[in-house]
Amino acid sequence: MDSVEKLVNIFRKFPTVGSRTAGRFVYYLMKLPKEKTDELINAIIELKNKIKLCKMCFNPYEFVGLPISLEMADRGLCNICADSRRDKGLLCIVEKETDLLSIESTKKFNGLYFILGGTVATMKKEDLSQLRIEELKKRLRQPFDSAHGHGFTEIIVALNPTPEGRTTSVLVEQTIKEAVPSPAFRITHLAKGIPVGGELEYTDEETLENALEGRK
Ligand SMILES: [Zn+2]
Repeated sequence: MDSVEKLVNIFRKFPTVGSRTAGRFVYYLMKLPKEKTDELINAIIELKNKIKLCKMCFNPYEFVGLPISLEMADRGLCNICADSRRDKGLLCIVEKETDLLSIESTKKFNGLYFILGGTVATMKKEDLSQLRIEELKKRLRQPFDSAHGHGFTEIIVALNPTPEGRTTSVLVEQTIKEAVPSPAFRITHLAKGIPVGGELEYTDEETLENALEGRK
């Protein structure tokens, strides 16, 4: 495989990038001066070294290396999970990081999150292996570190109202029931209002706020 083909194959796997765009990226890179490509390479290395996934919610967070953050990094928690003011009894299950950001930007949710890592169209094994099902079970059984020894009061299943989102919601509910057979929490869903087939990411703040506040 030549170096052009190799790089095209790498870019092709990026979200929303097809073969043609991947090719354009490669030709763009070819024309860049060496210091610019070095800058890109270093930024990628820095990203991999500094960004870690939160052990509780799988939200990426930056490990900055200052004493206070060091303590946070040692605990393996993102800013949200490490924040003592957040309601640890509330858990919102979302598909991906950008959905978490959309909900955060409404400022109407003060609980914690769990990022499932995607949605599935079928219950096939290879599809299911893409999701954090086992991690979710573990999280539900161990609500938070022993310092906050209380369980969940509410689990919000906030997946996108797409066909895949609906299939995955059913799966998530099954998982919750399996993990906690007699739960002390209630399971809720976002209220209707998010356009059918729409995604949280592209829903305006007010609609998302209403969907969150009207959840049942
Ligand atoms: Zn977290």
